[in-house]
Amino acid sequence: MPGKSGRIARLSPVLGNPADIIDDYLPDNGNLGYRVSRYDLALQYKVTANRLSGVATITATASSHLKRLQLDLATSMTVARVAVNGERLRYTHRRGKLAVTLTTPVPPGGALSIVVRYAGNPRPIRGRWGEVGWEELDSGSLCANQPNGAPSWFPCDDHPISKASYRIAITTDSPFHVVANGVLAEKRTKAAQTTWVFEQAEPMTTYLASIQIGRYETVKLATTPVPVDLVAPRSLRLAAKARFAPQVEMLAVFTEMFGPYPFPRYTAVVTEDPLEIPLEAQGFSTFGANHCEPASDAERLVAHELAHQWFGNSVTLSRWRDIWLHEGFACYAEWLWSERSGGRTAAQWAEHYYAKLAATPISRPLADPGPDHMFDDWVYKRGALTLHALRLRIGDDAFFALLRHWTEKHRYGSVSTEDFTTLAADHSNEALTDLWRAWLHAPELPPFPLG
Ligand SMILES: [Zn+2]
Repeated sequence: MPGKSGRIARLSPVLGNPADIIDDYLPDNGNLGYRVSRYDLALQYKVTANRLSGVATITATASSHLKRLQLDLATSMTVARVAVNGERLRYTHRRGKLAVTLTTPVPPGGALSIVVRYAGNPRPIRGRWGEVGWEELDSGSLCANQPNGAPSWFPCDDHPISKASYRIAITTDSPFHVVANGVLAEKRTKAAQTTWVFEQAEPMTTYLASIQIGRYETVKLATTPVPVDLVAPRSLRLAAKARFAPQVEMLAVFTEMFGPYPFPRYTAVVTEDPLEIPLEAQGFSTFGANHCEPASDAERLVAHELAHQWFGNSVTLSRWRDIWLHEGFACYAEWLWSERSGGRTAAQWAEHYYAKLAATPISRPLADPGPDHMFDDWVYKRGALTLHALRLRIGDDAFFALLRHWTEKHRYGSVSTEDFTTLAADHSNEALTDLWRAWLHAPELPPFPLG
């Protein structure tokens, strides 16, 4: 729809050339011409009406001579006002892009303060990966953005390479408990409303920004090396505590294997509703009521989501095709935890899943699985097998030194598969080219790795 001025801005794309897409797996997301350094979101949410309103203040720097800029924002949100550097501007908002024409072009390196006032009934974005983004629950809401759901609830430059700090302030009805990224800096109650203010200092990508709202209570599980909390409905507290208790030991084991935990705290949120799969966010993960059942494979999933804090949240892919750098590593962390906690060894899991993969007709390169397949289970398992093959080749000492070097060198950064293979070369006495060719780049499954 046109901006309030009633005039429709010209339709020429801001990127100039259709080939100038940031990521061919998500060609419609992400924007060129500027880099965001901070999102300041001041939001109100009415739970019963599923009504979200607020103001997003986005601090950015122009990376080119900027006459027009775009943000990603779903059209289920209605924009009421856009201002850039204090000047109210006309805009268009269609097909998930909020486009603003600047009356005064901003030179490269120039500062941008973009203020967007908006409101609406947020709903998940439908796409080839199902429904992602803000979702209303029976009593509250959740948001699971991966990979392109963030624009369902705030205007953003929606691409994982665009990492920024955040302040998320959300006001909602007082009986509800709110979890968002970072540290709770302030909580104030006025009449029947409570405002929760979270400060996320470490750079965070848009798909990991998240707000969970529900009738929850907090259970403290540990205070060192960082506070570890469980946030769950009262009725699930005991079951959740039993299922999530191993998290404390997991954090210690993963710190030893992967290096220091990268964020100031870790929280596991359990929703009253069942969830098909748990969801990672920066500094916390969200599980469903079903993941508290004794028969569920919650421990494996708890390990997987915790490992994402290192692999995915701190060290983040630059292109979605490199998704194995998140999921392969988190899956291998499951096997490592199993091995360490007296379950099956990583070698036994490798054998188990190799047989399963070998029985499927899938033949695609791990380092470029295709957008329709990036969240397929085979990517997770072949990714973990790739790490297992590397571990057998270079030995345990070099392998774990490499993992710690990886999380330290690229802490809070953006990475590619090439960054990993380059770093691995520093931890190997022999060339690994054949290993990478077979496991990452050849479509067919290589022979089972032997030590
Ligand atoms: Zn995962």
